[in-house]
Amino acid sequence: MTIEFTLTKRQLEMKGAIHGVAENVIRPQSLAWDRAGAVPDEFLRNFARMASAMGSSAMRSGLGEEKGSAEKMGGNVGTLIASEEISFGDAALLLCLPGPGLGGPPVRATGTAEQKERFFGIFQDVDAILRWGAYGLTEPGAGSDVAGIRTSCRKEGKHWVLNGRKCYITNGARAAWTVIFATIDPGLGRAGHRAFVVEKGTPGFAVGRIEEKMGLRASETAELVLEDCRVPEENLLGGEEAYVTKEGFMTAMKTFDNTRPIVATMAIGIGRAAYEYARAFVKENYVLSRPIPRYAALAERLARTGRNLHAARMMSWRAAEMADRGIPNAKEASMSKAMGGQAAIRACIEAIEICGAEGSIAKDHQLLEKWFRDIKVYDIFEGTGQIQRIVISKRLMTDLKSF
Ligand SMILES: Cc1cc2nc3c(=O)[nH]c(=O)nc-3n(C[C@H](O)[C@H](O)[C@H](O)COP(=O)(O)OP(=O)(O)OC[C@H]3O[C@@H](n4cnc5c(N)ncnc54)[C@H](O)[C@@H]3O)c2cc1C
Repeated sequence: MTIEFTLTKRQLEMKGAIHGVAENVIRPQSLAWDRAGAVPDEFLRNFARMASAMGSSAMRSGLGEEKGSAEKMGGNVGTLIASEEISFGDAALLLCLPGPGLGGPPVRATGTAEQKERFFGIFQDVDAILRWGAYGLTEPGAGSDVAGIRTSCRKEGKHWVLNGRKCYITNGARAAWTVIFATIDPGLGRAGHRAFVVEKGTPGFAVGRIEEKMGLRASETAELVLEDCRVPEENLLGGEEAYVTKEGFMTAMKTFDNTRPIVATMAIGIGRAAYEYARAFVKENYVLSRPIPRYAALAERLARTGRNLHAARMMSWRAAEMADRGIPNAKEASMSKAMGGQAAIRACIEAIEICGAEGSIAKDHQLLEKWFRDIKVYDIFEGTGQIQRIVISKRLMTDLKSF
């Protein structure tokens, strides 16, 4: 058994390069993007080109799909490193990056060879670099309770007819296609679920409300409406045979064992940004000018924050490394998501408290209040903290040999 947490030379170089971009190029524009509610297309285009040249799938498409690039960067662990560094600069940017995004994993896991070619093919076209995919599962009344989705699908000739409403879909309005989950019969639970790739412009497929969010404001979050939307049968992910057993749907869900550690490291990137800000603030303001007891107490709080972030990072790397080696990692992925979100939220709260009033003020050079707004959602999307803890406890109670 090997326990290896040493980054390769290639990974270290990549980490350093992305960190430089995050600190010097991304961070200075972060608050302006937040206020404008978007990252300019020109920036996204240039950034995506640069990321492709560097061979980083995480930089190319958030949770990306670019042949061979994840390997160049060092598999899932490489993607995690890039995610943390970009989020250190601006977390919303990572969600805005062109590429299939969260729509990628289900297509990769369940799509036929023809579907993968067709749906991923559009991202290989360098002249149309600003393209997105999206993932549409959540509905009003069915967020954590995934089995309860109500969007219906029925077969009519060579088409499926979809009716329903999806909410909070990242990049939903701009996406060239969205993986939409629907049900043939809500009474069947997960066995009734089907996943479709619904392309932009399909009659009956419309964008509803664009959400005004507390944090990650530069990232688009949209409502999608399906009204007698006729989807060609060849857009049913995996074809009919994939749904003979429950496996087709379960495979699509299992891919989130890959993405939860990525989301955890995105949170850690924000938490680290807040932690480093507070550490610099304490060093600058308290070391010589204030009585020693206060400095010692603040240093101890910072040390605890740093410890927790580091532990969460290691847990995420472990979950990602298991995925790289094809080892089932559902429990570890949930642990990393639960731990990463909590450690980072705590880091942002601590940082504001440590900086006192200065910490709560919105100024161009002071991003603590923005990080505080951005971080909360990391304990909500991709499965809330409570849901992760349920997954973990179920796994621990059914496999008593496991830690
Ligand atoms: C910025 C943003 C982007 C998003 N992007 C996407 C996207 O791209 N695609 C997509 O499909 N969805 C997306 N979502 C939706 C997100 O995945 C859901 O919000 C999330 O799953 C929680 O669902 P909910 O909001 O319906 O909350 P609910 O499920 O209603 O949960 C409310 C509260 O109840 C708790 N709870 C629920 N069930 C239990 C239980 N059994 N035991 C204990 N506590 C429980 C939850 O932990 C939570 O605290 C996004 C959301 C946001 C905010």
